[in-house]
Amino acid sequence: MKESACKNCGYITRELTCPVCGTRDLSRDWSGFVLVIDPSRSKIAQKMGIKVPGWYAIKVR
Ligand SMILES: [Zn+2]
Repeated sequence: MKESACKNCGYITRELTCPVCGTRDLSRDWSGFVLVIDPSRSKIAQKMGIKVPGWYAIKVR
């Protein structure tokens, strides 16, 4: 089974709702991902506005 990515924040999850922002607006049509371990020290996380550690999709359609 493929995980879904949140259309709002890009968080990759197997849940039906995004645990980060709480939206149910998830998509299985995503590509590329990045692992954010420490959002406060990650430039990618700052650029994407990520506050919670986890896997994030680069592109979500
Ligand atoms: Zn989200």
